[in-house]
Amino acid sequence: RMLADTLIQGAQTMKSSSEGMAQRLAGAQQEIADLRENLARAMTEAERDFLTGTFNRKAFDKRLNDAMIAAKTEDTELTLLMLDIDHFKHFNDNFGHLIGDEVLKIVAKTLTDTLKGMDCVARYGGEEFAIILPKTPIGGGMIVAESIRKSIASKELKRKTTGENFGVITVSIGVGTFRHTEDTPASFIARADEALYRSKHSGRNRVTQEHIGSAS
Ligand code: GH3
Ligand code: MG
Ligand code: MG
Repeated sequence: RMLADTLIQGAQTMKSSSEGMAQRLAGAQQEIADLRENLARAMTEAERDFLTGTFNRKAFDKRLNDAMIAAKTEDTELTLLMLDIDHFKHFNDNFGHLIGDEVLKIVAKTLTDTLKGMDCVARYGGEEFAIILPKTPIGGGMIVAESIRKSIASKELKRKTTGENFGVITVSIGVGTFRHTEDTPASFIARADEALYRSKHSGRNRVTQEHIGSAS
């Protein structure tokens, strides 16, 4: 009888300790799931520009590199747009930096709304954005750029609460196309940038394509 009691007691102790273990295991599993979620969120945030939610410069560099490799291995075309807001210093001077920040968000939203799945929008610098268009020839890139330009120039910027009018802003865009055998990221960006520079110098609020046939 005594032996039986001891055995029963032992079994009960074991049962409750294994229950405690199962509980701790479930707790640890939940903790791992939470950490995984936090890590995924941190990784997404690390790629994003804080103000506009578009990709940041670091993510852009990686994505451009990946897009160039894909264009080479799949033998597809690849187009790059460099976009810069016109006279933005003047806009900030007139209406203040906070309104300027709101305008940057509006421009970013216009870009993401205009583009489709594979395209990548990044804030390249202060008021400058870069857009990667995979599987897109330069003609297609010119059409996308022109539609972005028009869409931004046709928006009347107003403060929602008071109706205060800030007028319109415009952007200048340069369009470059990937040269599979000779381009580095730097040379590719430089050609789109040079086209952007010509948009600025020929009057702003326009789209210019790279010099075709200027291969070196
Ligand atoms: P351009 O047409 O030649 O591009 O003239 P610009 O005035 O846009 O060019 P500039 O390079 O002289 O000035 C860029 C301005 O963009 C300076 C700064 O006031 C504004 N800017 C850059 N980053 C930010 C930002 O994060 N927020 C705001 N509000 N303004 C910014
Ligand atoms: Mg600029
Ligand atoms: Mg500017």
